[in-house]
Amino acid sequence: MAYINENYLKLKAGYLFPEIARRVKVFNESNPEGAKRLIRCGIGDVTEPLPEAVRYAMHDAVDEQGVPETFKGYGPEQGYDFLRNAIADHDFKARGLNVEPDEIFISDGSKCDTGNILDIFGAGNKIAITDPVYPVYVDTNVMIGNTGDANENGAYEGLVYLKCNAENGFVPEIPAEPVDLIYLCYPNNPTGATATRAQLEAWVAYALKNKAILLYDAAYEAFIQDPAIPRSIYEIEGARDCAIEFRSFSKNGGFTGVRCAFIVIPKTLMGRKKDGTPQAIHPLWSRRHSTKFNGASYIVQRGAAALYTDEGKSQVRALIEHYMGNAALLVQACKEAGLSVFGGINAPYVWVGCPTGVTSWQMFDKMLNEANVVITPGAGFGSAGEGYFRISAFNTRANVEEVCRRIKALQ
Ligand SMILES: *Cc1c(COP(=O)(O)O)cnc(C)c1O
Repeated sequence: MAYINENYLKLKAGYLFPEIARRVKVFNESNPEGAKRLIRCGIGDVTEPLPEAVRYAMHDAVDEQGVPETFKGYGPEQGYDFLRNAIADHDFKARGLNVEPDEIFISDGSKCDTGNILDIFGAGNKIAITDPVYPVYVDTNVMIGNTGDANENGAYEGLVYLKCNAENGFVPEIPAEPVDLIYLCYPNNPTGATATRAQLEAWVAYALKNKAILLYDAAYEAFIQDPAIPRSIYEIEGARDCAIEFRSFSKNGGFTGVRCAFIVIPKTLMGRKKDGTPQAIHPLWSRRHSTKFNGASYIVQRGAAALYTDEGKSQVRALIEHYMGNAALLVQACKEAGLSVFGGINAPYVWVGCPTGVTSWQMFDKMLNEANVVITPGAGFGSAGEGYFRISAFNTRANVEEVCRRIKALQ
């Protein structure tokens, strides 16, 4: 008999995006005119094409692969030095941060990295996630058996949910009970919130004191406009001893379809064995990565490295300006419509309070049926997301301007 991993059966069937897709399909079939007007501001995918510097670099890399002198087969599992060096120099050393190239592991995406990291942590960790949350953190913990069943609100037994709301600026307070692994994502998807230096210092102090590890997802760091907001957890003193950072080229370089990301594991970061003795995390991840992964494509890594050239940097800046310009328009339109608005200033997501008495799925239906705009209902990100909806700034300017007109015209 072939037994299955029954943890998968605990996963909730009604996952957010399939339910959105179902409702949009019903709408499109019953309302062909509205379907033509439909604008999607739902899923967090980029819309603008790849920067020119990336395309040129990838073309060159394809040509290299076409002749015997420069053909490359398997590369180093951890990534090519040219990319690891560029990341260390530009993302960290240039900002005065101490991250070495061999502490950087290149992968084909942060979604995989945030899920796969659980391979190297043992059973019995108390896992803390924010509510609302990027659903990947929750589901990967369910799959690996770190939780019990979900209750009727969709909350899993065994996870510690850290409430994020307008009162705490969507940055969780330090929990009363001890936790071992804490997922933090700033700038945040879905709320668009950022964490201040003081807030991150408090989390680092907590992690050091409790020998906990922060899993810090900085996929949206490139969208930070305010120089006072940390772009990396390693800007906080002590973070090298308590934090793993996840970064991706998906949102800054428009790599959602190209696939390239990286994870930083400082060599000083320790986990614990059962008896409490310290064990470095770095060699465990290195072993895991080289056993279960055979490296991101050479062509893709050449494309990613081009993001760090002068041309690449200026083209990324233009992309970010475009999306943040969209976000500013959406924030303004929601304010003019009398809605309470969060995010959208250092992140490409605008997090909007539903009018009093309206649930987030009711708001989804209203936006779909009356404005023909697809948004993401906050409840899909966790029970604390109820009463909010997310508008993504990943869109063309023309679409955003039209969405703004429709929001202001809503009754
Ligand atoms: C988009 C996103 C990522 C990046 O995922 P990739 O797999 O690298 O495309 C990571 N974390 C969050 C919260 C995201 O929204």
